[in-house]
Amino acid sequence: MGEFDLIERFFANSAKRPDVVLGIGDDAALITPPENHQLVITTDTLVEGVHFFADIPPAALGHKSLAVNLSDLAAMGAEPRWVTLAITLPSARMEWLEQFCQGFFELAEYYNVTLVGGDTTRGPLSITVTAHGVIPMEQALTRHQAQVGDWVYVTGSLGGSALALRHLQGQQRLSSEILEVLLQRHYYPQPRVLSGYGLRGVASSCIDLSDGLWADLGHVAKASGCSAKIQVNQLPIHPQVKLQCQNDDAIALALCGGEDYELCFTVPEAMKGSLDVALSYSGIEHCCVGQMIAGQGPVELWQGEQPYTCCHLQGWDHFS
Ligand SMILES: [Mg+2]
Repeated sequence: MGEFDLIERFFANSAKRPDVVLGIGDDAALITPPENHQLVITTDTLVEGVHFFADIPPAALGHKSLAVNLSDLAAMGAEPRWVTLAITLPSARMEWLEQFCQGFFELAEYYNVTLVGGDTTRGPLSITVTAHGVIPMEQALTRHQAQVGDWVYVTGSLGGSALALRHLQGQQRLSSEILEVLLQRHYYPQPRVLSGYGLRGVASSCIDLSDGLWADLGHVAKASGCSAKIQVNQLPIHPQVKLQCQNDDAIALALCGGEDYELCFTVPEAMKGSLDVALSYSGIEHCCVGQMIAGQGPVELWQGEQPYTCCHLQGWDHFS
């Protein structure tokens, strides 16, 4: 099967939004963006051996490659609309591609996102997705506008994906029932798109949690010219992580494990009362884990009134 047959069979006939004038098939896509909106654009590459193991279920890879991009749009408060997909494959295996597309398009259709273009090449397995979203003028959530005194929140739960990864790396054995629950977190992260909408006009800053709360909140603090403190007793640790790990270890996974793809956001005291209503229709829990503070140092950890020491504080950094 040649490149064009492959595109035709797997990618060209997916559902198309009405604002896509020309999708796959011409030199480039043609789109009518809505008036009075800004475009929000993000891209992410997943490489075999770096971001996932060779035996990852193809449907999971399809889901995750799109989900991590939608998560970045969610962190901006944006509505996802159009994506491109560049896929490099060692060989064109039909069954593999069918499952990959099933994972990819199931999520795309859920959020009414159209695949408008891409590229297929032969080589070591790697997936690059570029996602485009829109947001009403001046309403985007950013990293740089948190203020000292703002409260720090996260959606959902933390640490579940990282514990599944530990199992996959052979570092901790989990029973098959528990693994099934946690692999769902690791392979099928759910981008918090609806939470992102709800936070427009309420949160002062927002980021999605890919590298772990400690590092990602550090990015917000640095961009905003302040610091932050986290109350480790308030962390929404995934229930299975609490059960399978010692307390300090569970806290470390929640802070540094990464790949939770939850949102971390800051809310000024005056907006705190609006938060429950703002997030109610997203159906996702949220909880306060700390506060922005003055200073320039790394994010501080506290356990009640005591400073808390965590032995392996780090976030994910490809070049460190
Ligand atoms: Mg991000």
